[in-house]
Amino acid sequence: MYIILLGAPAAGKGTQAELLTKSYAIPHISTGDIFRGNIAQGTLLGLKANEYISRGLLVPDEITEGIVADRLRQDDCRKGFLLDGFPRTVHQAEFLDGLLKDLGVEIDAVINIDTPDHVLIERITGRRVCESCKAVYHVKAKPSRTEGVCDKCGGKLVQREDDKEETFLKRLKTYYSQTKPLLDYYEKERKLFNVDGSTDAELTASRIIRILEDVG
Ligand code: AMP
Repeated sequence: MYIILLGAPAAGKGTQAELLTKSYAIPHISTGDIFRGNIAQGTLLGLKANEYISRGLLVPDEITEGIVADRLRQDDCRKGFLLDGFPRTVHQAEFLDGLLKDLGVEIDAVINIDTPDHVLIERITGRRVCESCKAVYHVKAKPSRTEGVCDKCGGKLVQREDDKEETFLKRLKTYYSQTKPLLDYYEKERKLFNVDGSTDAELTASRIIRILEDVG
C-alpha cells in the first residue's frame, strides 16, 4: 500500500501514521522526523533545515526532495510506504510523481485530514513531545501520568520550538499558501479522500482504514 497523508500542521498526521503503520506493515516516512533527527544529531543537513524550521518556513524543495528520493529507494519501501509531511508543495508533488514512475509504483490513496484552524491551535499549544523517544502527548487530551515526564521512557516532555504559537501561526500560513493547493492536484488525479480530523484519533484511523480497504 502506497499512501500519502496530507493535512495542516497539527491535523494529526503523525498520530494517524503511527496507528496506520501498525495495521499495514509499511514504513512511516516523515520528513519532519528526518529533519528533527538531523537537528538533534547536529548534522550539516540538520543545521541547514533548522534555519527554516525554526522560522515556520518550508525547507527548500531541492534539499527535501533529495532526502525523500534516498529514503524511498531503500529496500523496506518496496512493498509500500506511508508519507507523512511530504509532499508539501506542488513542485514536490511533481517530483514525487517522477520518482514513483522511476520506481515503478503508484500511490493508492492521498488522505487529507481536514481540521478547522481553532482545533489546530488548541492542539498545538498543548502538544508536548518526549525529548528522548519522541512520544507525543497533549496536556489536556493525552496527558502523561506524571506531568512533564514520558510514560514510555521517563524522558523529559518539551514543547517543540516550532509549536510555539507565533511560529505555529506562520506554519499555518505556509500551509495555506504552499500545501493546500495539493488538494486540487490530487483531486484532479482522483486520488484524494477527505477525512474529518477534528474527532477522536481512533475514530479517524478507522475511517481511514475503511477508505484504504476500498482502494486496496
Ligand atoms: P512536520 O513535523 O511534518 O510538521 O514538519 C516540521 C517542519 O519540517 C515543517 O514545519 C517544515 O519546516 C519542515 N518540513 C517537513 N516536511 C517538509 C517538506 N516536505 N518540505 C519542506 N519542509 C518540510
